[in-house]
Amino acid sequence: MTTFTGWIARETPDGHRTTLEELDSEVLDDRDTTLRVHYSSINYKDALALHGRPGVIRRRPLVTGIDATGEVLASRHPRWRPGDLVTLNGAGLGEDRHGGLAGLAAVDGADLVPVPAPFTPAQAAAIGTAGFTAALSLLALERHGLAPAHGPVLVTGAGGGVGSVAIALLADSGYEVIAVTGRPDTLHDRLTRLGAAHVVDRAELDPQGKPLAKQRWAGVVDAVGGPLLAGALAGLRHSGTATTCGLAAGAAFPGNVMPFILRGISLLGIDSVRTPRERREAAWQLLARHLDPGLLDTVTRSVPLAAAQDAAADVLAGHGTGRTVVDVR
Ligand code: NDP
Repeated sequence: MTTFTGWIARETPDGHRTTLEELDSEVLDDRDTTLRVHYSSINYKDALALHGRPGVIRRRPLVTGIDATGEVLASRHPRWRPGDLVTLNGAGLGEDRHGGLAGLAAVDGADLVPVPAPFTPAQAAAIGTAGFTAALSLLALERHGLAPAHGPVLVTGAGGGVGSVAIALLADSGYEVIAVTGRPDTLHDRLTRLGAAHVVDRAELDPQGKPLAKQRWAGVVDAVGGPLLAGALAGLRHSGTATTCGLAAGAAFPGNVMPFILRGISLLGIDSVRTPRERREAAWQLLARHLDPGLLDTVTRSVPLAAAQDAAADVLAGHGTGRTVVDVR
């Protein structure tokens, strides 16, 4: 038996609470691979889980954290040897399986991806589920036929994790990027450095009940839902494609069929949690090709494990920018 420190969500007489505790390895499930976690990160889901909010944790007690990057300690899986540096996003971690905001994790070797060059383990954690989802979104748009020559791509929630990585990936892949943010004054320079050609105030995208607007962009990477998604769809060019992955602005959106039936647009859903291995590897290869590690560092901050809950409060308050790595070592 080994002890380790981790953020664990529990049912208490006062409701759902997540606390930092000293844990026994016996708390973990029997999985084929044990990881010494070096880094995790704070995604929107982690922020909810760390503050006892509903919608993420499906069993309690549960070690939180939807990402884990670290070193294989032991594995019964044929792909992995002790010492291998690996990363894991989603696959139920921090939702219905014990997660990565802790020193030890027991995981399925089939879900792991090697930390790919040129990234360090800390940079792989900085990418995390948010960056992985940005890559899945771009892969989905391109599978659907989008190419840089078709026109600009709109990115919503630009200041957040998914948005920031999406801007960098799209720009490096040759797309003209329009970044949509609620904080245009504060974030203009940062988003431009990431590769945005234009920075637009989210208020400008409010469809105000109109189903169709001027046809301005060929693709959309949406991480916020709500009225912004409706506005993004209203401005898609004929045959354009949008991806939807998030609900920072709300799960419901005031959509209308008109852009679908008059302009032949498509809306593709992205689920990073249950992504098959081939697609996980394709997303990480895309990141390795098109995400400059130095640029990633400019939108990453690092906090110790003990500060994860405070960092999560910033995300819930809408003050988060870019990515937050949690140093678990
Ligand atoms: P962040 O908190 O890092 O970023 C969210 C961004 O959304 C904010 O920075 C802000 O950007 C914008 N935003 C926040 N509130 C509002 C609002 N009320 N109206 C419009 N925009 C708003 O989160 P992530 O980037 O990590 O995740 C974004 C979403 O994607 C979350 O809902 C998350 O759960 C989801 N997600 C889903 C995944 C999947 O597999 N489907 C995987 C990963 C994430 P700005 O200030 O620039 O406007």
